[in-house]
Amino acid sequence: MDFIALENRVSAPNYAPLPVVLARGEGSYLWDVDGRRYVDMMSAYSAVSLGHSHPRILAALTAQAQRLAVPSRAYYSDRLGPFLEELCRVSGFDVALPMNTGAEAVETAIKGARRWAYRVKGVRRDRAEIIVAQGNFHGRTTSIVGFSSEASYRDGFGPFAPGFRAVPFGDLAAMQRAITPDTAAILVEPIQGEAGIVVPPKGWLAGVRALCDRHGVLLIVDEVQSGLGRTGAWFAFEHENVRPDGIIVGKALGGGVLPVSAFVARREVMDVFTPGSHGSTFGGNPLAAAVGLEALHVIREEGLVERSRVLGAYMLERLRAIKSPVLKAVRGLGLWVGAEIDPQIASARMACEHLLAKGVLSKETHDTVVRLAPPLVIARDDLDFALDRFEEVLRDLSVSPRPHPVAA
Ligand SMILES: *Cc1c(COP(=O)(O)O)cnc(C)c1O
Repeated sequence: MDFIALENRVSAPNYAPLPVVLARGEGSYLWDVDGRRYVDMMSAYSAVSLGHSHPRILAALTAQAQRLAVPSRAYYSDRLGPFLEELCRVSGFDVALPMNTGAEAVETAIKGARRWAYRVKGVRRDRAEIIVAQGNFHGRTTSIVGFSSEASYRDGFGPFAPGFRAVPFGDLAAMQRAITPDTAAILVEPIQGEAGIVVPPKGWLAGVRALCDRHGVLLIVDEVQSGLGRTGAWFAFEHENVRPDGIIVGKALGGGVLPVSAFVARREVMDVFTPGSHGSTFGGNPLAAAVGLEALHVIREEGLVERSRVLGAYMLERLRAIKSPVLKAVRGLGLWVGAEIDPQIASARMACEHLLAKGVLSKETHDTVVRLAPPLVIARDDLDFALDRFEEVLRDLSVSPRPHPVAA
């Protein structure tokens, strides 16, 4: 069976997958249909931070599936409260609003911020503005791609919703200039993931917090990819010792098996939602809640945050020691690293294809960045295997560079 040809024929062409057909996963390993094993250095964009087929997640999933899965939010359930209580506890917030995908939770935060602006801050009707960072990635809905700076995310999808203003990521002065009396919130990733694991200057997020305090603006941090241990802290905002007014979580919250997301915030922000003002048929269903709660327990009980911090520091150190003309820069935090490839020599896509041939799965972001973000449960030996292969790929690419160098 030619699964690649089949998928290409019947699936919309909005992805360009690497040419491997996966059939099974366990921990930080994936197997293709021919039984060949790969080390996963991508973790499904951090959705699989706990590893594939985690036994405790599978047990929670199957047990709950046999009890009650989706009764809708028209009723209370015996699973939602305990899940949200734990989510609030680990994040330090008061209230959570459960959704499914990250983009939905971002939309939820946008709605919350706007209503807060009208009802609490006193912004005039339909004037509320949200400041975002250039290079952002917050999902794929039409309002979210409307404030993206990435042409490929936006092209042909307008008209876009007004009410957003973008400033350069990491530029505090530009952020300050963009604030007006109508500013409801600043919505940022603490480290930009899809932009290529871009780490802002130290002190930037703390500076943004100070601006928000001075001007009565909400700070909303998108932790969909950076959260739940990925950067070596429960949440990336902790590295700057700031407390946002709300955060958005998703991806790993679903334990690698379900879409589970939430907007989590201070009570004052969340209380602007009233019955009927927002919702989701599947959001917070008992199946998602049982899996989400177990995911939070696994992260804590297996020490995955600490693991990410220690193994991440080791990975960065190993990568930074590499001397190769192909490797222009290495940046990241925790088990979340972007390796910048010199576009004069190779593309990140080529590097990922070479890695694939050597039994390591990664994925380029943009043309020049190879992301290295294994499940947090990865064994040090497997991490070493992947990094050894990455070094080989850099060597291979430097001796046989791409035939037609392209401009940067
Ligand atoms: C992936 C991601 C999203 C969107 O999540 P989906 O589940 O794909 O909708 C939002 N924000 C950030 C920072 C992300 O990395």
